[in-house]
Amino acid sequence: MTNRVVIAGAGHAAGQVVASLRQYEYDGQIVLVGDEPYLPYQRPPLSKKYLSGELLAERLYVKPESFYDDPAITLQLDSRIDAIDRDAKCLKLEHGDVVDYDKLVIATGSRARRLPVEGTDLKGVHYLRSIADVDGIRDNMDAGKKIVIIGAGYIGLEVAAVAQLAGLHVTVIEMADRVMSRVVSPEISDFYQIEHTNQGVRFRLSTRISSLKGKKRVKCVITSEEEEIPADLVVIGVGILPNTELASGADLDVDNGIVVDDHCRTSDPDIFAVGDCTSHPNAIYNRRLRLESVHNAVEQAKTAAANLCGQDTTYNQVPWFWSDQYDLKLQIAGLSEGYDDVVIRGNPAERSFSCLYLRERRLIAADAINAPRDFVQSKKLIADRVEISKEKLADTATPLKDAAD
Ligand SMILES: Cc1cc2nc3c(=O)[nH]c(=O)nc-3n(C[C@H](O)[C@H](O)[C@H](O)COP(=O)(O)OP(=O)(O)OC[C@H]3O[C@@H](n4cnc5c(N)ncnc54)[C@H](O)[C@@H]3O)c2cc1C
Repeated sequence: MTNRVVIAGAGHAAGQVVASLRQYEYDGQIVLVGDEPYLPYQRPPLSKKYLSGELLAERLYVKPESFYDDPAITLQLDSRIDAIDRDAKCLKLEHGDVVDYDKLVIATGSRARRLPVEGTDLKGVHYLRSIADVDGIRDNMDAGKKIVIIGAGYIGLEVAAVAQLAGLHVTVIEMADRVMSRVVSPEISDFYQIEHTNQGVRFRLSTRISSLKGKKRVKCVITSEEEEIPADLVVIGVGILPNTELASGADLDVDNGIVVDDHCRTSDPDIFAVGDCTSHPNAIYNRRLRLESVHNAVEQAKTAAANLCGQDTTYNQVPWFWSDQYDLKLQIAGLSEGYDDVVIRGNPAERSFSCLYLRERRLIAADAINAPRDFVQSKKLIADRVEISKEKLADTATPLKDAAD
């Protein structure tokens, strides 16, 4: 059995690797190296209850501080890893330290994509990926201020909801012609845009940014139509990029994420990779996926830990995700990309309904809005890949689980 597992990156997946190694009674040393100053923490509340001030930072931790108070666990936080040396089997850290490993787990996550325009370095302009980012945003989120959010994806819209409820004047600018266009159908986009508009949020869709202006602090956002939108605060949420540089620098296979197999093993049998930074095979969709979700981070972490403990465990599940905006809980099962038909189940006016995505008469994804039962049952239908009756899907008197043809 391996006696020293090192985890590169100390985010959500890394925290779960440690927890699962403990659960599977791994009896070697565990070393966690991460560049943030915090214990491994959950990011979803960052754009929700942590941003609104309803949750303290300690409540974000995957495990409490006392969990790491264990002679078998070494935490090396605030430490950036510069390189992996596969021949010497060690990590090289920024300040010259070297950390040896028998087995390595790469859990470097992803980072916010930068907006390539002038002015993003002005004060008052923020990305949102970490506790430190949110602390910076919250310092400026006073009622009555003008916030401009660039990007109408989940994170942008969650920030819009929190800011609107906190009494700010909110404008959301989006390059596409509808909100959340990358992940949901036009029906769901329309529903969310109307909800936000009713709350008072203003939208500029089909609009690009040409620059951000101000002296030291941001004063306004200039659009490609040369409209000047005043801003006391700007939050940019235009997607993420996987942190694959350590892996590619060590000549591991990387292709839109660190390439792993269904055991979470990279092209080096002594190195595993988990979470946002990976590209992994999924037999349900019959293709490789790179996911940005807690479910994926947690399940890959469990899989890698089990395999590190000598088990033979594979990861092949229906992906899922969620987003909280106002009192709306959106739960997304599966991936809708490539759908050829859509069924709306329930009544959007009642603010509890689902949008079901089909491909060749099989359910491939579901967006359930305040409809947790549909979410749970659709996950099973997606995994089973059975042919579906559209009529039964649309009939709220028939439970989704009975919608097979
Ligand atoms: C604001 C926000 C809201 C979200 N909301 C949801 C949601 O509602 N539902 C959902 O399912 N998912 C959500 N996500 C996504 C989810 O949080 C991520 O999928 C999850 O955090 C991935 O975990 P990870 O461990 O792979 O990466 P991360 O949690 O990003 O951890 C990676 C860690 O590695 C560190 N690192 C990177 N490179 C190095 C290096 N060279 N040296 C040392 N350390 C390094 C990083 O700084 C980071 O601390 C949200 C994400 C954000 C940012």
